[in-house]
Amino acid sequence: MNEYDSARVSSVLELCGVQPVLNVADADIILINTCSVREKAEESAIARMRELRPLKLKNKHLKIGILGCMAKNRGATLLKELPFVDFVLPPDEYEKLPEIISGGVPPAPLPKGADLTLLTNRPLKNPVDAFAKLSNSYSAPIAIQSGCNMRCSYCIVPFVRGREEYRDPNLILREIENAVQNGISEIILLGQTVNGYRHKELSFADLLKKVAEVKGIERIRFMSPHPKHYTGELLNILLNEQKIAPHIHLPAQSGSNSILKKMKRQYTREEFLSIVEALRMANLFYGITTDLICGYPGETEAEFEETLSLLREAQFDNAFLFAYSPRKGTPSALEAETINAKEKWQRLQCAIDLQNSITLSRAKMMIGRKETILLERPSRRSAGEWIGKTGSFKKVIIPNSGNEGEKFREGMYIDCIIESVSGHTLRGKLLHSTCV
Ligand code: SF4
Repeated sequence: MNEYDSARVSSVLELCGVQPVLNVADADIILINTCSVREKAEESAIARMRELRPLKLKNKHLKIGILGCMAKNRGATLLKELPFVDFVLPPDEYEKLPEIISGGVPPAPLPKGADLTLLTNRPLKNPVDAFAKLSNSYSAPIAIQSGCNMRCSYCIVPFVRGREEYRDPNLILREIENAVQNGISEIILLGQTVNGYRHKELSFADLLKKVAEVKGIERIRFMSPHPKHYTGELLNILLNEQKIAPHIHLPAQSGSNSILKKMKRQYTREEFLSIVEALRMANLFYGITTDLICGYPGETEAEFEETLSLLREAQFDNAFLFAYSPRKGTPSALEAETINAKEKWQRLQCAIDLQNSITLSRAKMMIGRKETILLERPSRRSAGEWIGKTGSFKKVIIPNSGNEGEKFREGMYIDCIIESVSGHTLRGKLLHSTCV
């Protein structure tokens, strides 16, 4: 989401006549877009800003600004901590950006007809038709929703991003059509609880159908869904619309009902597993990834075992596993931790070891299968090899050999046979005459 916001801010800057430079030392404006989800992300952003201080001493025209969730979370205290920073601008105030960078002079009227509501969370006086700048020629993230109405006990997002707002579907489709005109064939719909999207009568499932109708779109993905919003209508379209990639990221956070209740996640283990079962019953190879927190305050050994048993039962293709860390300002930060850091890391390691073995066995299941791969880039390690992804979001390495007429390129779809597994990565062999 932050990368997408940065790409839209980039477009706004260009509309205001600002051009990118290759070397940061040549810049007159430096904006750092920040994340507040974890303490560590904030620490890294502050360290990065301190590195910029010498540039400010050399170039008196240089303006340094802090954007994003940290600007919201810490606000003006950042200016005290980092006096060489010129301004902080939280996501709900980005409409001020053109004026700030023009030194207080109101910018010339900007093109009419679009909006920046996802950046600002409210309509602008001067709407800017600023589609996010594309970072490659095959896949584009497109935000459809901002904010979050959930109140998970450990999460700071609702405090810094506000309540959910849904983008107008016509603007979403226009941005997608613009991306297609620039060669994009894969779209990743973004939102904090993306499958909770609704706009008047239009549900998330309806929006997926509309996106699938856009000519030139071959693959549709979305990030991040909330288990609570998996309706029967949505599961139906996921399993029946060919353009929707057979992969979901489904954050579980815990396998224990009592911990899920404390976390205020609003689903039970059984409800979560029923989504996994519906998808895997229809397609054994459906890719499912998750997020899990180990060592939440009060988590007993038995509750942690339930998380391990969830890993075994769900057979996730991959998982982002974290040791719980309190986030100041959230309800769970007020709860006393009942295990020490060593025990927490031991639990995390145990979960990682288990998931690694499951990830490997899920990867091995792919051997012998024919898969359509979207090529992303040449391998950095081995000349002549390319990296791509299956629909189920598995990384595949494929040698570009033995087929003189067909040179691999970014954004190409090829069919291959999965021959082996190296680490957790698949290795495939091109099926000839299949490049599209
Ligand atoms: S659903 Fe929960 S974890 Fe996700 S952004 Fe909202 S509050 Fe945070």
